[in-house]
Amino acid sequence: MLTGALIARKRDGQELSPDEWRAIVAGVTDGSVTDHQAAALLMAVFFRGLSPAELDALTDAMRDSGRRLAFGDGVPARVDKHSTGGVGDKTSLILAPLVAACGLAVPMISGRGLGHTGGTLDKLEAIAGFRTDLTLDEVRRQVERIGCVMVGQTDDLTPADRRLYALRDATGTVEAIPLIAASIMSKKLAEGLQGLVLDIKQGSGAFLPDRARGLELARTMIALGAARGCPTVALLTAMDRPLGHACGNALETEEALLALRGEGPGDLLEVTLALGVEMLLAGGAAAAAGEARRRLEETIASGAAADRCRALIEAQGGNPAVVDDPASLPQAPESGVWESPRDGFVTTVAPRTIGAAITALGGGRRKLGDAIDPAVGFVITAKPGQRVARGEPLATIHARDDGGLAVGRKALAEAITIGDAMPTGVLPLVGERVGG
Ligand code: URA
Repeated sequence: MLTGALIARKRDGQELSPDEWRAIVAGVTDGSVTDHQAAALLMAVFFRGLSPAELDALTDAMRDSGRRLAFGDGVPARVDKHSTGGVGDKTSLILAPLVAACGLAVPMISGRGLGHTGGTLDKLEAIAGFRTDLTLDEVRRQVERIGCVMVGQTDDLTPADRRLYALRDATGTVEAIPLIAASIMSKKLAEGLQGLVLDIKQGSGAFLPDRARGLELARTMIALGAARGCPTVALLTAMDRPLGHACGNALETEEALLALRGEGPGDLLEVTLALGVEMLLAGGAAAAAGEARRRLEETIASGAAADRCRALIEAQGGNPAVVDDPASLPQAPESGVWESPRDGFVTTVAPRTIGAAITALGGGRRKLGDAIDPAVGFVITAKPGQRVARGEPLATIHARDDGGLAVGRKALAEAITIGDAMPTGVLPLVGERVGG
């Protein structure tokens, strides 16, 4: 294969054939395509896009670049959820055990936080001993045994994506819809799913804040899933403010565990149930939305969801007692309350500012591989539209030291704005449903 010639053709806006894409992905996987060549090709795709046939070929070749998860006959329908990410978004931690306790199998492969958004693996690793680096065989065995698993990408699952994603991260080529769609869907399709639910975040804190781009990404992934026997549906949900109250790894895990026991904040529960309904419908565990919602609510109320979470934590090396005592998670040594500076209405709680502040406190990473402090972050009860009085507590900062508290206060003063009137244009928690 003359890789240089293929790059030049793509650079000039020409279409590459499926065979050519397969050869490129094989070269990315075995190392015969160099980093320089792969990076140049990614930039060409960033500017030129991919035709539908090219996107199909790239996704299939990436999916097939490693092993695929396969299950025995006795395993229930497999479903998963993928979120485009945000601040305070801890629905995965609730949904995997909850949906498994409703009778489906959830082989959930998640990522780490990067930039202003948090990552499920970092939240799980706030639980001492919790292993997220299982092999594909361990993943399969655990799903067969308890119906759910929550892990990172394994070495043998879509290795081409692993290399391409790292290069995209280093070369400013992450935000290209065909590349995002191929990356996410190749991994999801390798999980051997029967249904996939996408949580496409909208608003200032979303990975793609622009609604039209979010919808385009959703439609692109839905088409890829549908054509490959994995019916895919998307919900657009709000990320113009953090989801729930807790923002920061251990704090979010604590809030998710409380939610599994029926004690979570209302907005978190609402988005979680909306996504859970779609997962039950996708896996055939309920025939209609009302029935699915009732089933999810009963599974939380009966304690079955919390039981499944204990089993999940134990299976992956953590202490299941954390479900009953979430305060045993890592705690920051310092905390400080932040009060409303005036009477009025909360107009914004800017997620990007909060996410960046978590990173500044040590709770997020600036580049892949950075160590993080699980204990720091914020608990923010203020929501846009809420009427508040001067001096009313709106948030708590959790930090390592006084310097961290000062960073937190500055961030909250920037992120939380108070005005004289109710804000307009606050996004609905759960918006449009696409596909399905
Ligand atoms: N998550 C992924 O797995 N891939 C992307 O390209 C973007 C987000």
